[in-house]
Amino acid sequence: MALLIKSGEIITADSRYVADIYIEDQTITRIGVNLETPPDTEVIDATGKFVFPGFIDPHVHVYLPFMATFAKDTHTTASQAALIGGTTTFIEMCCPSRNDDALEGYRLWKEKAAGSSACDYSFHMSVTKFDEQTESQLREIVADGISSFKIFLSYKNFFGVDDGEMYQTMMLAKELGVIVTAHCENAELVGQLQAKLMSEGKTGPEWHEPSRPEAVEAEGTQRFATFLETTGATGYIVHLSCAPALERAMAAKSRGVPIFIESVIPHFLLDKTYAERGGVEGAKFVMSPPLRDKRNHKPLWDALEQGFIDTVGTDHCPFDVMQKAMGASAFTAIPNGIPAIEDRVNLLYTYGVSRGSLDIHRFVDAASTKSAKLFGLFPKKGTIAVGSDADLVIYDPAYRGVISSATQTVNNDYNGFEGMEIDGKPSIVTVRGVVQVRDGKFTGDAARGEFLRRKPQHF
Ligand SMILES: [Zn+2]
Repeated sequence: MALLIKSGEIITADSRYVADIYIEDQTITRIGVNLETPPDTEVIDATGKFVFPGFIDPHVHVYLPFMATFAKDTHTTASQAALIGGTTTFIEMCCPSRNDDALEGYRLWKEKAAGSSACDYSFHMSVTKFDEQTESQLREIVADGISSFKIFLSYKNFFGVDDGEMYQTMMLAKELGVIVTAHCENAELVGQLQAKLMSEGKTGPEWHEPSRPEAVEAEGTQRFATFLETTGATGYIVHLSCAPALERAMAAKSRGVPIFIESVIPHFLLDKTYAERGGVEGAKFVMSPPLRDKRNHKPLWDALEQGFIDTVGTDHCPFDVMQKAMGASAFTAIPNGIPAIEDRVNLLYTYGVSRGSLDIHRFVDAASTKSAKLFGLFPKKGTIAVGSDADLVIYDPAYRGVISSATQTVNNDYNGFEGMEIDGKPSIVTVRGVVQVRDGKFTGDAARGEFLRRKPQHF
């Protein structure tokens, strides 16, 4: 059925105005004031609400075998939690390990998602080794619609690549017009520091951050930038967490290296004192790069406001309390990850726009538009325009609530943002013209989501 969204305040990355939006066959076909209502049209009154383009989470983990267990989500649970939080598209990390075949891994991840996601999705393809077969396999995967790679400079012998493999990955990416996303930490230093701390009997979750200090991330960031500068490939730093890494990335940006920066919502709002709670309470807050000293928050917010940080994702990755307890006697065995797919938009809106000094257009850009542009989804995704997919978030800025695991949809038994207030939330969310969330609840088609084929783009 056609949809007419009446009198909402449309806010995109570069415009703000009150108008009606008419949607037919998945697409926005008209935008204007006082549009007439054709027969067979559902009318939604958005008076007093914001209408945002569907938000895009550029960094999530859904299916993930990791650290001797599996992340808790299925595509059904993750996509419905995403939609309730206003995210209509996510890009999942496809992460076969070094011992797996890349093409088989890619097919497995696609199979897991097919027919069971309620929102649209794509993948970043992890390159976890570069051997004789890798190049032709990656070409095949790119031809299937994947225009971004992921490399890990950390997680030696599991996901991590060495410098030679990083170089080869970038040379291929440069040729194909693929953007290389990277987890930037020095694997060797992390391994040495973990062994040293453990041998000193420092086994609790509070030692996770000291095992991967800021300098270790700054080194990885610097090295990634140097390789981009040398190969001419375009890069994207995932989950940048601290001021020293930010300084290295900004220095590279300012000398013209094609490098983009993502930070994730936990690093703007949580800090290392959460992991210092010790025991399983601390383990809930173990992710990598780790939650940092609080003094890093302001530089991150400033860089986001000024546009030096391009995007805000989540690194969503739920492990429950039982799984976190696997690391009771060794912080190195705590499954890494904090879930946030459901709360990212509301938290960024609340602590950025409503209570902070983040411009509302920059908010839309960082949480949607910029990811669409960088990852080959724009202008179908990431904006509100005639011809764009009708992925819309009708957002109620008058809502007041508190985040709680008791009311969350995400498939986990705790919430890292427990007790935080939110000023606003999505009331209606559409995916290509179909209402998937109504009154803040998932009411739609659990298999609505499509795999988004993306084309490489030479930056
Ligand atoms: Zn990740």
